[in-house]
Amino acid sequence: MTENPTPDPAAIGTIAFLGLGHMGGPMAVNLVKAGYSLAAYDPVPAALEAAREHGIATVDSAAEAVKDASVVLTMLPSGRHVLDAYRGVDGGPGLLSQAPPDTLFLDCSTINVDEAREAAEIALEAGHRSVDAPVSGGVVGAEAGTLTFMVGALPEDFETVKPVLEVMGRRIVHCGDHGSGQAAKVCNNMILGVSMIAVCEAFVLGEKLGLSHQVLFDVASNASGQCWALTTNCPVPGPVPTSPANRDYQPGFAGALMAKDLRLAVNAVEGTGAVAEMGRLASRIYDAFAEGDGATRDFSGIINDIREKSGG
Ligand code: NAD
Repeated sequence: MTENPTPDPAAIGTIAFLGLGHMGGPMAVNLVKAGYSLAAYDPVPAALEAAREHGIATVDSAAEAVKDASVVLTMLPSGRHVLDAYRGVDGGPGLLSQAPPDTLFLDCSTINVDEAREAAEIALEAGHRSVDAPVSGGVVGAEAGTLTFMVGALPEDFETVKPVLEVMGRRIVHCGDHGSGQAAKVCNNMILGVSMIAVCEAFVLGEKLGLSHQVLFDVASNASGQCWALTTNCPVPGPVPTSPANRDYQPGFAGALMAKDLRLAVNAVEGTGAVAEMGRLASRIYDAFAEGDGATRDFSGIINDIREKSGG
């Protein structure tokens, strides 16, 4: 981590902001509030309308957004979306050919490590700069400007984007070269997926053994079972009043997103030959969870599946 440079929105120029969804929308709002000049675009008219209501300058196409940009920030659903947008689809031009030379492409979407490296490669080949900066902290963090950014970038590009990211986040971590931000994100979320399942299994086992939730929480949260899945996102109602279990598992972090992130982790496992049996199993368990209504519930709601399979 380096010293904070003084944020100077004017020095950055126009930021093309592409993807005004659950995360991108509030992130763009924070940039505008901090004085940055945006040209924002999303193919969904309702997303554009909502952005305009928050004072964000929108344009009618991605091409228009990037034509005078010095930074192109993408917050898109998947790596396929990012690569298609960069390259263009069906023979049409992509952002890389439409942006001015030496534009900094800043992708904040959660995508495969290999896709992030490919995105950087084609951006550099086209004469641009590239940074991957996936986030954690969810919609609440996006709204509050308290996201964590995990950044894969050359040192000089990290210095350029850091003040921009500091407007949207509280913790900005330079993880290494291109793709390292995504690498850190998948590793972290593999820990999270596996540990949440372990915490849920322990609560269900505790129920069967006659332990109250509070007793197990009091012991484990002060012992070696302590982890974020237990102490912040506790999957049973009661011990942590702010956890999603207390509001019928409204997310929070939706099961579909956990399933997605674990698939990205498994892709990385397969690409590297790392042994990650727990990660692979967690991915299968969350895929099954996300096939049903778990897709839209907090990922801690997996405890209900585990309890049901355990005979109630
Ligand atoms: P979302 O589906 O709500 O938003 C994505 C937006 O991108 C949509 O509005 C879509 O219309 C737009 N889009 C698609 N293609 C586009 C294009 N070519 N140009 C411009 N816009 C385009 O998704 P989200 O929840 O905002 O998540 C965005 C990314 O952030 C995902 O990669 C997700 O995994 C990651 N993420 C999400 C959360 C979360 O809690 N939602 C948390 C951390 C990371």
